[in-house]
Amino acid sequence: MRATLLHRPREPLALADLPEPKAGAGALRIRVEACAVCRTDLHVADGELAEPKLPLILGHQIVGRTDEGRRVGVPWLGWTCGVCAYCRSGRENLCDRARFTGYTIDGGYAEICVADERYCFPMPDEYSAEEAAPLLCAGLIGFRAYRMAGEGKRLGFYGFGSAAQILAQVARADGREVYAFTRDGDVAAQALAREMGAVWAGGSGERQALDAAIIFAPAGALVPAALRNVVKGGTVVCAGIHMSDIPTFPYELLWSERAVRSVANLTRRDGQDFFARLKTLPIRTRRTIYPLERANDALAALRSGELVGTAVLRTED
Ligand SMILES: [Zn+2]
Ligand SMILES: [Zn+2]
Repeated sequence: MRATLLHRPREPLALADLPEPKAGAGALRIRVEACAVCRTDLHVADGELAEPKLPLILGHQIVGRTDEGRRVGVPWLGWTCGVCAYCRSGRENLCDRARFTGYTIDGGYAEICVADERYCFPMPDEYSAEEAAPLLCAGLIGFRAYRMAGEGKRLGFYGFGSAAQILAQVARADGREVYAFTRDGDVAAQALAREMGAVWAGGSGERQALDAAIIFAPAGALVPAALRNVVKGGTVVCAGIHMSDIPTFPYELLWSERAVRSVANLTRRDGQDFFARLKTLPIRTRRTIYPLERANDALAALRSGELVGTAVLRTED
């Protein structure tokens, strides 16, 4: 099969012709139709996440068909132990021994992947593979972050890329107002935000009164910026797996029961809830399609900030 391999962090992915992987007991062999690119892929490729499997096939937003023809999606959470305190308390996202697709398990930048059936999701028929792929991490972990942000009406999104464009549609359907904060002068992202239902879009240093904020961009300086905008009792949720250092800030910004928290990974329950929600809420996404061979170009576009929306690798000829 064709695949792209990360041999070493900070090196470009290399195209490879590999033997087709075999599915062991409890695993599905999946012919990949589409795999969306996540910022986490970039963090792995750039060496910002420690100890990836090497060589590695990146990619954890996979949609494809099993050998029996069933359409499934493969998310970031690839395996959990089932016996640790976290697993036994419904918090398998925090499992001590969790394994992750496209990081510690080979992922979907390939024609075929193998995944533990217990962690795969049936995919809604209403979506094409390319439409469904970004739902598997941007949508799903974004949904977990969205629920962590609480019930307040005015919601700030810092960074308007793959996850924010999906969550803006969920928020709007819930009767909430989305305020989109982007890099200063990023008019393309601000236009996308308005198109996806944001009531306001502007630079990340601007002031708005928010009930909660979700930070999707990997920039620690956004934490005090978001705290400045969140009203008393509000939460700032950091939705990414990696972030640059958070600068010091006066305690006054946190005072009055404001909270800062991170969101890690997903549970299978999050997936069931999210995909159930989508049955009555059609999500559309702005996507740029790349053939598998151009995975490096997709990563470069995401890294530079020139990508608008989501990059999706199409694996079929
Ligand atoms: Zn566990
Ligand atoms: Zn992801």
